[in-house]
Amino acid sequence: MHRNLPDVTVLGAGVIGLTTAVCLAEAGVAVAVHAAEPPLQTTSLAAGAIWGPHLVGPRDRVARWATATLATLHELIAAGHAFVRLAPGLAASRLADAAAPEFAAGAADLSACPSADLPAGYLTAWRLTAPLITMPQYLSWLHERYLSAGGQEITLIRYATLADAIRDAATRVIVNCTGCGAHDLVPDAQVGPVRGQAVVVANPGIGSFFAGTGPGGDLTYYFPHGDRVVLGGSEQPGNWSREPDPQLARQIVAACTAVEPALRGAAVIEHRVGLRPVRPEVRLEAVQDGDGVTVVHNYGHGGAGVTLSWGCAGDAAELVRAALR
Ligand SMILES: Cc1cc2nc3c(=O)[nH]c(=O)nc-3n(C[C@H](O)[C@H](O)[C@H](O)COP(=O)(O)OP(=O)(O)OC[C@H]3O[C@@H](n4cnc5c(N)ncnc54)[C@H](O)[C@@H]3O)c2cc1C
Repeated sequence: MHRNLPDVTVLGAGVIGLTTAVCLAEAGVAVAVHAAEPPLQTTSLAAGAIWGPHLVGPRDRVARWATATLATLHELIAAGHAFVRLAPGLAASRLADAAAPEFAAGAADLSACPSADLPAGYLTAWRLTAPLITMPQYLSWLHERYLSAGGQEITLIRYATLADAIRDAATRVIVNCTGCGAHDLVPDAQVGPVRGQAVVVANPGIGSFFAGTGPGGDLTYYFPHGDRVVLGGSEQPGNWSREPDPQLARQIVAACTAVEPALRGAAVIEHRVGLRPVRPEVRLEAVQDGDGVTVVHNYGHGGAGVTLSWGCAGDAAELVRAALR
């Protein structure tokens, strides 16, 4: 197949880079993707993943990006894609009279859970349905969709600086979707990791999800994905380790089993670790470098990269098209 020389290079092959690359390729832009890790080794793989803003700002733009993404997820559900579905579940808090969580904002069927049905240790809960996204399949599908739209196969390369990437890519526009990598690459000290670890187990027959929070910000969740369940969670600010911590894995399994006893003894299939790229605000803007190259930054999506992906990709693609005109 004939490939045009790319006009645009997207840095990063997580959910933000791939979705941006899809939007650009489908708009007829010649795109290349350069990334240090392929899609299935990124932080994006570790996401649970449920639709809902978490650890991200600013509130007004986040709401718009999340709403745009929700509309696309509903289209994918209507089109019958198995990697996204509306699942029933329970959002719970260890606080009495806690407000409904942010991810409940997209639910049409939110209802208070009777106290008799509360899991042990939880004082408030809501029943709702929410979109669950199975990340391994979803990232592979995004990758395939990008290639089908004429995008170039991903080049695996880690850049030390943005200047290196600009020089090597030699395109008029660079879209920086490097998540936590932007901390060193840009460099941008405002973006840093909130480490999360998940344990993937064989599904003993669970069909609904659970997401519970505690007063110290502690987080317990499980999300069923067909024959597997993703168990979490943890939030460790400033921790850059991508190695699974066995003790934390045991704590996660114990916390989930306390809520759902059917998980006891479930076979562990895999451990996943990701670094949520947390920043006071998502950085989504175009910047001119001295040599006439435009850098569109699209990073810092915190605990909500999947939730914001289509909204941010649409805005980033618009900034790219403006730069190419
Ligand atoms: C445990 C956990 C659970 C989560 N649950 C949810 C959820 O339920 N819902 C939700 O919406 N979000 C969730 N998140 C957050 C979500 O996963 C992130 O916001 C999202 O993955 C960020 O995507 P990204 O593409 O920006 O970054 P990444 O997935 O980290 O991808 C970054 C890409 O940039 C590349 N890169 C980095 N530095 C360089 C460099 N120097 N040179 C070249 N390439 C580079 C990397 O190799 C990679 O390809 C969760 C995160 C974790 C860890």
